[in-house]
Amino acid sequence: MIIVKQVVQVRLLPTPEQASALADTLRACNEAASWLSDQMHRDRVWHRVDTQKRWYRELRDRFGLSAQPTIRVIAKVTDAYATLRGNLRAGNYGPSGSERRRRVESKLVVFRPDAAQPFDARCLSWQPPELGREGTVSIWTVAGRMKNLRILGNPAHLTLLKGRTIGETDLVHRDGQWLLHAVIDAPDVPVREPAGFLGVDLGIVNIATTSDGHRASGSRLNRYRKRQHRIRKRLQAKKTSSARRLLMRRRRKEARFAADVNHQISKSIVAEAQRTGRGIAVEDLTGIHARVRLRKPQRATLHTWAFAQLGQYLSYKAERAGVAFVRVDPAYTSQTCHVCGHVDRKNRRCQASFMCGQCGFVGHADHNAALNIAARGVERWGEVMRPDAAPTLAASQGGSSNPNGRSRTRGTGNKPVPSARVHDIHRVAGTQPPR
Ligand SMILES: [Zn+2]
Repeated sequence: MIIVKQVVQVRLLPTPEQASALADTLRACNEAASWLSDQMHRDRVWHRVDTQKRWYRELRDRFGLSAQPTIRVIAKVTDAYATLRGNLRAGNYGPSGSERRRRVESKLVVFRPDAAQPFDARCLSWQPPELGREGTVSIWTVAGRMKNLRILGNPAHLTLLKGRTIGETDLVHRDGQWLLHAVIDAPDVPVREPAGFLGVDLGIVNIATTSDGHRASGSRLNRYRKRQHRIRKRLQAKKTSSARRLLMRRRRKEARFAADVNHQISKSIVAEAQRTGRGIAVEDLTGIHARVRLRKPQRATLHTWAFAQLGQYLSYKAERAGVAFVRVDPAYTSQTCHVCGHVDRKNRRCQASFMCGQCGFVGHADHNAALNIAARGVERWGEVMRPDAAPTLAASQGGSSNPNGRSRTRGTGNKPVPSARVHDIHRVAGTQPPR
């Protein structure tokens, strides 16, 4: 079973005095990290154990760190170099000897004075809120152990902190706010055998359309983005450092806004699937750029990461709720008629409407796509659960029917046609149609 990790964000409400101790702590840890990075780089020492043997004592004494924070600093720096060197080995900075690669190879890793710092359970303990008592944390600082530091957070998230293993927690200082990002293990929920699948089509005009016909419009988000885009243009023209800071803040704010929208959408979709005992199917979004053909101004509003994020949110929320989740082949979902399986680019008349050239079905284009995705979800689930029963290419090439009794045309040289239709969903799952 997969262990799902979840990050809980909590805001700290330090007094001015506490805030300055936190700032001193981050600064000391990051100065220590940059100093250590310099030593490692100079002596060409990269491994954690060697680094620890060599500089642990000096790190503690120089920067006034206690034992655990020192270990965390060493881990932070050795991890940074391990990532860098891993990327070099993988050739992500070009072939050996290339200018770019040489530059990266000689690069010294430097830490911002307020870069995030990880804390573990020995340096940070939680007292989640109880009835009539605020939640607090106690955290190690360079000014000593700081107790009763008030925390603020989504009540549902704070509840998660109770009785759960809390892993590493990052202390983050961002836009004048103090935050803790705690990694926790989400409880294992067994996945229920789905009675059919809820297909979800992701798009720009409609962020998400389900096979039930529910649409989450992207107009609010797109309007917001356009406005942000205009403001960004103005700021970019300025080129001052304060404009740059403001730009960064804007960008993060926009990302938070989009994340918030994605949270709401994924939450309602997972709730609907759970209520009706179905699984969730979405398109496998790798290569979305190839699929989305749009005019240029519209393309500017497309943020691949926002799609990927919605997919991730759906995936982990589904997992947490014990709802089956599959990603399906996205090919031709928007050009295929979900009723008769006819594939034609002309089927999709415009952004919004679908009209089948063969059987005459007329409907909303995204809804039609979502129905195709739902059908593919059923097929994919069958493959996931019974790999041995999955239709093989050889079987379909030989013209014989596959074990599910449906014909497959993929791989025969014809245009790809989804082999499952919507009414197959319930038959495959062997249950009544959900209401
Ligand atoms: Zn049709």
